Amino acid sequence: MNNHNIIITEEEIKNKIAFVGKQLAAEYRGKPLLLVSILKGAFVFMADLCRAIDAPLEIGFMCAKSYYNGTVSTGTVSITLDLDQDISKYHVIIVEDIVDTGRTLSLVVDNLKARNPLSLKVVALLDKPSRRLVDFDADLSLFTIPDLFVIGYGLDCDEKYRNLPYIAEFKG
Ligand code: 5GP
Repeated sequence: MNNHNIIITEEEIKNKIAFVGKQLAAEYRGKPLLLVSILKGAFVFMADLCRAIDAPLEIGFMCAKSYYNGTVSTGTVSITLDLDQDISKYHVIIVEDIVDTGRTLSLVVDNLKARNPLSLKVVALLDKPSRRLVDFDADLSLFTIPDLFVIGYGLDCDEKYRNLPYIAEFKG
């Protein structure tokens, strides 16, 4: 395909996830751990990350939409698919595809904090710090990228390209 350039290869993703998976296993082994993936973009990252963590864990999925007044966040997030676990019994890691403006994730974090998890951490595959509009950072980002629109490895353009095994800049 010639409408996109690979910026992070399949092998780079695999190596970084193996490294982070070992770190997380050491940190959470012996603790009740719940990985929470935000659909749809994080589903591929979730599938690989959970298999790289050699420790008992559970998984959950959420779908969240944030509402804007023009370009200003109203501060409300609508959970269109919610967890079925009571998270007060778990150490929770939110597994996200990309932190862009930071709006959605900051609202999801507030929402989950209100449910009193034992602890809460955010692990993001990608970070676009130059796009940030709210004061929010993931606890751990695997790759920092410039202000590009990217596809692949779960990320879409009009619902396509999620199945590409690498991250690419979409050129339209
Ligand atoms: P925000 O941080 O602005 O609230 O929203 C983050 C969401 O916007 C991500 O979870 C992702 O679904 C989407 N997004 C942000 N940047 C990109 C990008 O470069 N490519 C794709 N496909 N989605 C993006």
